[in-house]
Amino acid sequence: MKKRVYIIYTGGTIGMQRTADGYAPAPGYLAAQLAAMPELHDPIMPAYDIHEYDPLLDSANMTPDDWLKIAQDIAAHYDAYDGFIVLHGTDTMAYTASALPFMLQGLAKPVILTGSQLPLCEVRNDARENLITVMLIAANYIIPEVCLYFGNKLLRGCRAVKINAVDFEAFDSPNYPPLGTVGIHININWAHILPPPAAHIPLTVQPLRAGQVAVLRLFPGIATDIIAYSLRAPLRGLILETYGVGNGPTDNRAFMEALADAVRRGMVIVDCTQCLKGTVDLEGYATGSALARIGVLSGFDMTVEAALAKLFYLFSREEDVAVIKQQVQVNLRGELTR
Ligand code: ASP
Repeated sequence: MKKRVYIIYTGGTIGMQRTADGYAPAPGYLAAQLAAMPELHDPIMPAYDIHEYDPLLDSANMTPDDWLKIAQDIAAHYDAYDGFIVLHGTDTMAYTASALPFMLQGLAKPVILTGSQLPLCEVRNDARENLITVMLIAANYIIPEVCLYFGNKLLRGCRAVKINAVDFEAFDSPNYPPLGTVGIHININWAHILPPPAAHIPLTVQPLRAGQVAVLRLFPGIATDIIAYSLRAPLRGLILETYGVGNGPTDNRAFMEALADAVRRGMVIVDCTQCLKGTVDLEGYATGSALARIGVLSGFDMTVEAALAKLFYLFSREEDVAVIKQQVQVNLRGELTR
C-alpha cells in the first residue's frame, strides 16, 4: 500500500511568493507549487494531503495557541497517515519543535518540522530538498519522535536550536547527535532514537499554559532591581541563562537575595547555560554552587527552548511545586542528558 503523509503548512519562507514588499505568504500558492513538481509524483514518493492554515504565519508571530492547533490537527488525522510534516518558518521552529514532544503524548509516528531559508519559488533554494527528504523519511521510517529536518540533518525536536540566520545549515542539536544524516543515503541513527510507547497507549494532546514562565539572560552589569521586578507574581517559573557551567554573579548580595526570596515564595528557577554546547554543573565553581544552595535548579544540557516548553508543560499539569522541581530535572522526552 502506498504510504501517506499529512502536510501541515503553517507559513514561513518555504511557501512564500516574491512580492514588491519582499517574500510574503499567499494562500494556495504552496499547494499549487507542489502539484506542479514532477518529483512528488514519482512512484517512490508517498501520497500526501496538505492542510494550509489560515492565516499563514511568519513564525515570529506564532504562539502556544498555534502549537495547540498543530498538535490537535495531528491527533485528528493520526490514524489515517504514516507520518506528519509541519512546514514552518525557521525563526521559531525550534520552539515549536521543543513544545510538540511535550504536547503529543504517546506519539508513535514521525512528526517532522521543516522549512527553508529560500522559498520553493526561487530557482536556487533549499526548500525542494528539505521537502522531498522529509516526505521520504516521514513515510518510510517509524521514528516515534518529533524531529526537525534541515540542511541534511534530522534532529531531535527538543534538542534543536537555530544557529544560523542565513546558511542552509541553519539548525543544530549541539548536545545530542543527529537522529539522521542525509547524503547519497538516508542514514537513521536508530541507537539515538527514543523507544516507541507501549502499543496500548493512545495519542493524546496536552495543552500548554504559558504566561507564568520567563527567560532572563544574565550579563555583566545587569541591574538587580530589574531582576527583582521580573521575579514578582504572576511569574512562577524562570529560566536563568547563566555563564559557562551555570555560574552567576553570586558576590552580588541583592541579586542572590532576590533569587532566594523568589525560591522561598515557590518560584521554580532553572539554570541553563548561555553556551551552545555543554552542560550545567553547579558543583564546578563556587559561583554555581552558591546558586544551588539557594534553590536554583540545574537545567543540565537542556536548550532554553526545551526548558521553556518543559516548564510550560509541568505548570500545565501539576500544582505541587515540589513535583515540578523534581520533574524538571528528569529526562521526560529526551530533552536532557542525565
Ligand atoms: N521569518 C520567517 C519565519 O520564521 C523566516 C523563515 O521562514 O525562515 O517565518
